[in-house]
Amino acid sequence: MTDALVDIRDAHKTYETGSVAVRAVRGVSCRIDRGEFVAITGASGSGKSTFMHLLGCLDRLTSGTYHLERRDVGRLNRRELAALRNRRIGFVFQSFNLLSRTSIVDNVALPLTYQGVGRRERRRRATEMLERVGLADRLHHHSNQLSGGQQQRVAVARALVTRAPLILADEPTGNLDSTTSQEIMNLFTSLNRDEQVCIVVVTHESEIAAYAARHIVFKDGLIVTDEPTADKGAADASREAVLAS
Ligand code: ADP
Ligand code: MG
Repeated sequence: MTDALVDIRDAHKTYETGSVAVRAVRGVSCRIDRGEFVAITGASGSGKSTFMHLLGCLDRLTSGTYHLERRDVGRLNRRELAALRNRRIGFVFQSFNLLSRTSIVDNVALPLTYQGVGRRERRRRATEMLERVGLADRLHHHSNQLSGGQQQRVAVARALVTRAPLILADEPTGNLDSTTSQEIMNLFTSLNRDEQVCIVVVTHESEIAAYAARHIVFKDGLIVTDEPTADKGAADASREAVLAS
C-alpha cells in the first residue's frame, strides 16, 4: 500500500454489449500523487473517458484494483461510492452540466446539499468559490445567461466547493474557443498551484496538454507513455510573458 492519491493496478474495463465485448481498458497501472497536474491524451476510442469513469468511481473495474486515498474502491457499496464521489472528487465536463434555471450560486452549492451543509454556509462557500473563479458579480444569474467560458468557470467552482483533493475534467475545453480555453487552463494551473488540488484533464489538443506537468498517452486501452510534459518550462515562461504584457 502506498500513500498515493490514486493507485490503480492492472485495471481492465470490458463493456459487454450484446454479443461483442469491448475491451476499453486492458491492463492499466498508474499512481497519481496529491497535488499533481496530469494531462491524458490519445486517439478517439483509446479508452480515455473509460479510464476517467473508473478514476471517478462512476464505473467499476472489470478486474484489477483501485485505491483512492488508500481506500479499496472495489470493496465499497453503491452508497459508499456515492459519498466518496461527492466528498473526494470534483467533476468538470465538456458540456458544463449546470442546472439552467438555477442561480449559479445554487449550482455551485449543490454538492454541499448532499453533505447536509446548512443553507447559509452553503451560500458562503459557494460565493467564496465563485469569487475564486472570477464570477463574484454574477452570483444570481442563471447559467443560461452566461457565456460558455463563464459556465465552465461555474462548473470548476462547483467541482472545488467540497475541497475535494481530486478534480477530473474530460475535454473541459472541448466546447470553448481557444482564448477561453486558455483562460480555463490558466485557472486550473493557479488552482493546482495555490490549493494543491490534483487535476487530471483529458484533451485531444497538445496545447492544452502542455499546461500539465505530466502527460499520459493512451492507445488501444493502454498507457503507452507517461512522462513529464515536454518543454513545460518554456510553455510556462511564454504564458507568464503574455500575462505580464
Ligand atoms: P475515448 O474517450 O478515448 O474516446 P472511450 O473510453 O470513450 O474512448 O471508449 C473506448 C472504447 O470503449 C471505444 O471502443 C468505445 O466505443 C467503447 N465504449 C465506451 N463506452 C462504452 C459503453 N458504455 N458501452 C460500450 N462500449 C463503450
Ligand atoms: Mg472520451
